[in-house]
Amino acid sequence: MRAPMQTGDGLLVRLLPAGPTKLKAFAGLCTAALTHGNGAIEISARGSVQVRGLTPVSAPLFAAAVSALRIDLNDGVPIISDPLPEEPTSLFDSSALATELRRAIATAALRLAPKVSVIADGGGRLHLDALNADIRVRAVAAANGPLLRMAIAGDDATASPLGTVAPEEACATVLRLLAAIAAHGPEARAMDVLRGHGIEAFQDAISTPHAFEPSLPRRLPAEMIGTHSLDDDLYALGVGLTFGHAEAGTLRALTDIARAHGGLWARPAPDRALLLGPFQRPTVKTVRDEAQRLGFAVDPSDARRRIVACPGAPSCASGLIAARTMAADIAKSVELPGQGIAVHVSGCAKGCAHPAPALLTIVGTAQGCGIVHEGTARGTPLAYAAPASLVEEIDRIIEMQETVDA
Ligand code: SF4
Repeated sequence: MRAPMQTGDGLLVRLLPAGPTKLKAFAGLCTAALTHGNGAIEISARGSVQVRGLTPVSAPLFAAAVSALRIDLNDGVPIISDPLPEEPTSLFDSSALATELRRAIATAALRLAPKVSVIADGGGRLHLDALNADIRVRAVAAANGPLLRMAIAGDDATASPLGTVAPEEACATVLRLLAAIAAHGPEARAMDVLRGHGIEAFQDAISTPHAFEPSLPRRLPAEMIGTHSLDDDLYALGVGLTFGHAEAGTLRALTDIARAHGGLWARPAPDRALLLGPFQRPTVKTVRDEAQRLGFAVDPSDARRRIVACPGAPSCASGLIAARTMAADIAKSVELPGQGIAVHVSGCAKGCAHPAPALLTIVGTAQGCGIVHEGTARGTPLAYAAPASLVEEIDRIIEMQETVDA
């Protein structure tokens, strides 16, 4: 577990489970969040669990409670692998590579910047193309079995391709790539090395590269929400946490329902989702209906999935607006254009929940809700609105934009 971070609503602890967590242990994690934190649990865009509202006294108690649950946590270099256990559409077992890498990295004792991360993508349907990482490994089909494509610094579309290696060379290759980053100092990131020294700085890491296509066709965005078939006529269910957030008690209730219906594991997943399984065909629908009743997003087209919001006021002391309440109002009343994240509601200019630009960012300011167009929470607002007239103002801006685009 990473060291707690100070936020506006107390200490925040981030955990990255290394694989599926037994439902009983996941329920225990919810209870620990309720007992020692303020009861809020988040799942981040990268699939980490965040427990909020801890204090200097309660944080060690929370850590002890989690340790007793024996959840396998990724405490070193974050390695994000396929979220579905035994993903039937994968070309390659990315979880096994992640486990091997974790051990190898711990032994190598490299001094790396805390944010250096690795993506291990088995090439299946719940791919990881949208996530940024310093090193990307992606399985691609080849005549004699899958090969692993290595790329540096970025998401699948922007990372610089390096070459393709055989699966048995993947762990050693990633280790050499990490060493190439570490050679530039304990704060270095792959992008810094790339900008300063070019792709050549990484080329020696690949000892026997195979021929490869420098660019691969773009895949449709991965959709974590919904029912996913597994082997043996079993299913996993992906649900979305509303604006990435749930009350620990509600999450625990969902976990209990999943257990009662034969589920064995929970896995936090990218895009603020939680995967649960495995279920028989008749029960997966029941669990889905129960999740919906509890307020989770069970439909990929749920408007709440298009909006990101931080806790804002009153949960966060820095919050100048009630970000999540406003986000719920927007989801109910505004028809959002396009696809993906359309609105980010941020309690203040720090923009914790979504550092990237959004079509519209609503930011808490001393003058009310600042509305930034195609920027981040730190951008200059093009307009301000009182909380009561925010929805109306957003409607007006979207309509105006659609007229300009037409
Ligand atoms: S962005 Fe939100 S969570 Fe972050 S400090 Fe500001 S109000 Fe708090």
